[in-house]
Amino acid sequence: MELSKRAMSIKASTTMAISSKAAELKAAGLPVVTFGAGEPDFDTPEHIRQAGIDAIHNGQTRYTPAAGTPQLRQAVCDKLKKDNGLDYEPAQIVISNGAKHSLMNTFMAILNEGDEVIIPAPFWLSYAEMVRIAGGVPVIIHTKKENQFMMTKEELEEAYTEKTKAVVLTSPSNPTGQVMGKDDLQMIADFAVSHDIFVLSDEIYEKLIYDEEKQHISIASLGKEIYDRTIVINGVSKSYAMTGWRIGYTAAPLAVSKLMASLQSHMASNPNSIAQAATVAALNGSQDCVAEMLVEFKKRRDYIFEREEAIPMLSALKPQGAFYLFVDVSGTYGKSFEGEMISSAADFATILLDKKYVAVVPCADFGMPDYIRLSYATSMEIIKEGMDRIEALVKELK
Ligand code: PMP
Ligand code: GLU
Repeated sequence: MELSKRAMSIKASTTMAISSKAAELKAAGLPVVTFGAGEPDFDTPEHIRQAGIDAIHNGQTRYTPAAGTPQLRQAVCDKLKKDNGLDYEPAQIVISNGAKHSLMNTFMAILNEGDEVIIPAPFWLSYAEMVRIAGGVPVIIHTKKENQFMMTKEELEEAYTEKTKAVVLTSPSNPTGQVMGKDDLQMIADFAVSHDIFVLSDEIYEKLIYDEEKQHISIASLGKEIYDRTIVINGVSKSYAMTGWRIGYTAAPLAVSKLMASLQSHMASNPNSIAQAATVAALNGSQDCVAEMLVEFKKRRDYIFEREEAIPMLSALKPQGAFYLFVDVSGTYGKSFEGEMISSAADFATILLDKKYVAVVPCADFGMPDYIRLSYATSMEIIKEGMDRIEALVKELK
C-alpha cells in the first residue's frame, strides 16, 4: 500500500540520529565522545524538579486546557514583559510539547499549500522539514561568513516573491552562535512590514549570550507594526536544562494563537500537566540557576574556540551565544586519513567518528555542507578529550 508521499519526502532529524548513533556505539563499549545534539548536560535545577514532584502529589495529573494552564500562560506573559518588554495577554500564548511543537503548530496555522518561507542558511535543520510537512516551500538564503551569517536587505528582497508568507529568525543562532543586533533586526522588521509577512522569531537561546556588548532583543519589541506580524517562539529546554520535559511556547497575534490552540486540541490535547507546573516554577522562580549555567557555558565557549583556533585547516567565528561552534572544514578537502579522502564535511565527520570516536554534526542539512557543528553543552573533560582527538586527526591527515 502506498504511504504518504509527503511523509516519505521528509528526512528524519540528523541531530537526533547522531546522538542515538553515538549512544549505541558507547553502549557497545567504544570510547565515544559526543559533540552531537544540543542538550545541556546539567540536571534540571532542584526547585523546578520539586515543582514537578509537587504537581504529581497535589493532583495536577489531568488534562489541562489545550493551550496550557492559566498559571503557565500568565507566567509566560510576565516573563515576556520582564525580559523582553513585550505586552501579551494569556490568550495570545500557546504552550506546547517543546519549541519544536510550537514551531510546527505555527507553520500549520499560517501556511497554505505552496506558501513560501524564507529561511537563512545556516539554519537549524528542522525548520525546512517542518515547512514541508505543513505544505509550504522553504526558500533558502545562503548567508556569508563575512556578513557574520546575517541576511542582507538585498538577499531578502531577492528571495521575496508573491508567495512569501514568513521569514524565520534564530538569535542567538543554532548553529552559528551569532546574535543579531538592533540594526539587523530593524532591517528585517522593515522588510516584513513592507511586504506584510510574518516573522517567526525563535528565541530559545536568548538566555545564553556570553559577551556583555551583545544583548538579546526580540524583534517584536521594535514597534506595533512588527509586533502584529511576529510569532515569538521560546521554551525552557535550553535555558533551564529541561529538554526532556518538553515545554515550549509561542506568543502571537490572537488570530494565530487561536488557530494553533485549535490544531493542538486535536493533535495533542495539551502539553504534559506536570511539566507545565514545573515550567511555572522555572519562569517565576529565582533565575540564579540560569546565571550559574551561563558561567559554565562561557568557560566552555572560550576553551573550545581557543582549541579550534589552534588547529590548522579549520576555521570558525567566535560564538556569541547558544552552545555551538560552527566550523568550516573545507581546508581539509583533498587530504586523506588512512587512504580515505575528505571532500565534504560529511566525510570529515564520518572519518572522525570511525577513526577517533568523536561524534559531530555535519551541516549539509543545515544548508552548509562545508561545516561541522560542535555542541559544547557538555563537560570540560569531554570537550578537552574531543578537541585533542580532532587535533590529532587533522595533524595526521596526508
Ligand atoms: N529551536 C532551535 C533553534 C533549537 O535548536 C531547538 C533544539 N531542540 C528547538 C527550537 C526545539 O527545542 P525544544 O523542542 O526542545 O523546545
Ligand atoms: N536543537 C538541538 C540541536 O540542534 C537538539 C536536537 C534537535 O532538536 O534537533 O542539536
